[in-house]
Amino acid sequence: MEAIYIPKLLKAPDQTTEISINNSISGLDTLTPVKGTLIVRHGGNFLDVSVEAETIVTLICDRCVQNYNHRLKIATSELIWLEAGNPDLENLPLEREVLLEELSENLSPTGYFEPQTWIYEQLSLAMPIRQVCGESCVGATQVAAGEETTQVDNRWASLASLKEQLKNHNN
Ligand SMILES: [Zn+2]
Repeated sequence: MEAIYIPKLLKAPDQTTEISINNSISGLDTLTPVKGTLIVRHGGNFLDVSVEAETIVTLICDRCVQNYNHRLKIATSELIWLEAGNPDLENLPLEREVLLEELSENLSPTGYFEPQTWIYEQLSLAMPIRQVCGESCVGATQVAAGEETTQVDNRWASLASLKEQLKNHNN
């Protein structure tokens, strides 16, 4: 994916560019290409970037340590401040509730926006913190169930041998 030269965006219709994504993202090990749409709008002193995309990543289950495939979906947006210094809140779009944290990123107004890096960050943020392969994970649950079964089996075994002893005794 090519970097977007920020001043060039000002000449685009509605100061907006829409990019369809069908790429592998460097640094991100995905099973399928990342597919979706990225929209970048130049708002004067900020960029309004939004993305809807999905891919499949191979993760390692925390419980059973097996690989499993996970569908990663993102639908997110961010405002990127285009000048050094504090954001000029007066000139931000009124229709959106803008959080100061949202404006933590800074780019030079005469620089480039790197879609690939930005999408990589959004996908990384969307990775599950707790990675479990699924409801039927054979990890921790099976170990617990296995122990229980063995205990029951032992009890039945001693009961059976007790019965056997009593039978022998009665005879
Ligand atoms: Zn598992």
